Amino acid sequence: MKIGVLGAGQLGRMLALAGYPLGLEFKFFNTVADAPAGQFASLVVGQYEDEKALADFVSDLDVVTYEFENVPVNAVNILERYVNVYPPAKALEYSQDRLVEKTLFRDLGIPVPNFYDVTGLESLQESLLRTGFPAVLKTRRMGYDGKGQAVLRSEADVKEAWQSLQGNALILESFVGFEREVSMISVRSKTGETKFYPLTENHHREGILRKSIAPAPSLTDELQTQAETYAKRVLERLEYVGVLAIEFFVKEDQLIANEMAPRVHNSGHWTIEGAVTSQFENHLRAVAGLPLGSTQTRGSSAMLNLIGVRPNVDDVLKLENAHLHWYGKSVRPGRKVGHVTLVGETVKETQHQLILLENLLSKI
Ligand code: AMP
Repeated sequence: MKIGVLGAGQLGRMLALAGYPLGLEFKFFNTVADAPAGQFASLVVGQYEDEKALADFVSDLDVVTYEFENVPVNAVNILERYVNVYPPAKALEYSQDRLVEKTLFRDLGIPVPNFYDVTGLESLQESLLRTGFPAVLKTRRMGYDGKGQAVLRSEADVKEAWQSLQGNALILESFVGFEREVSMISVRSKTGETKFYPLTENHHREGILRKSIAPAPSLTDELQTQAETYAKRVLERLEYVGVLAIEFFVKEDQLIANEMAPRVHNSGHWTIEGAVTSQFENHLRAVAGLPLGSTQTRGSSAMLNLIGVRPNVDDVLKLENAHLHWYGKSVRPGRKVGHVTLVGETVKETQHQLILLENLLSKI
């Protein structure tokens, strides 16, 4: 079976790495040639608006999926004339617009921060009366890794935030004083079977994921059940096929949804070594119409992103439980170029190695 993947970054690369042992073949579509997945799979370079390029791409494929959520929906609609595309285009429509996404969560009874559609400066001021300070002003579309958003701590921040974000469709959210951030990686098959990984605790800095711990420390059955219930509602409403990630804030033992990604997710990278079946393999099983694999953990995992740094490989691998993933990208400040996952039998063992790894990376 030959799977087409839109986008060819590290997520696509890890999909291919997970799919080759199953006998799956891959072809990637990307707007530029220099991409991590292109280093060991065929890569078609084209524009998403180019119908002919899309038709050529899909000609020998059995199914198409994607590895980033800003794929133009129209490109998916074109590809769907030829083969099935999973996750469904509906999932893209919801996840590409924060206002539409949060409305879906709210309609499904999933708690969200209070949010308001901002249509101009006056509407921003009116919305701020409802949220109070602090509040978060975000672009509805194309925001990622903390880009396209500003925290408004007082009236004094409004002018600057407005100047930098105006011209975009915007949403204002109340600021959640969360205790921690977690994510739910879930998967649904074509037959409607669902599986869930344990909640992962995520640590961001400057809006970028730095570290994930799985299962989330002190994870209770109640919190896990809450997350599974919410994820299942989204999976079923969207008639979803594939892996879906939902990011939540945790406050007073309750989950508040922040956003979702209709794809494999950075906070699920630990599943490659830390779970019986990785998120990448389960995504492929789902889109290829195969039975899903177990989401059981193999112990306690921690994942650190390598952002703008190339560590000494020897030093990393000297840590007994370390697994290094290098994405084949050139190193630039702020760029995700790899990750390291630690998997220990106990939380204590993983925490100990995590301290050593963090120490090692802090010295680069
Ligand atoms: P996002 O791009 O929506 O994932 O936001 C990036 C990061 O900003 C999140 O992981 C949070 O740490 C923070 N953040 C976003 N929205 C809020 C909010 N409403 N309240 C508090 N922090 C937020």
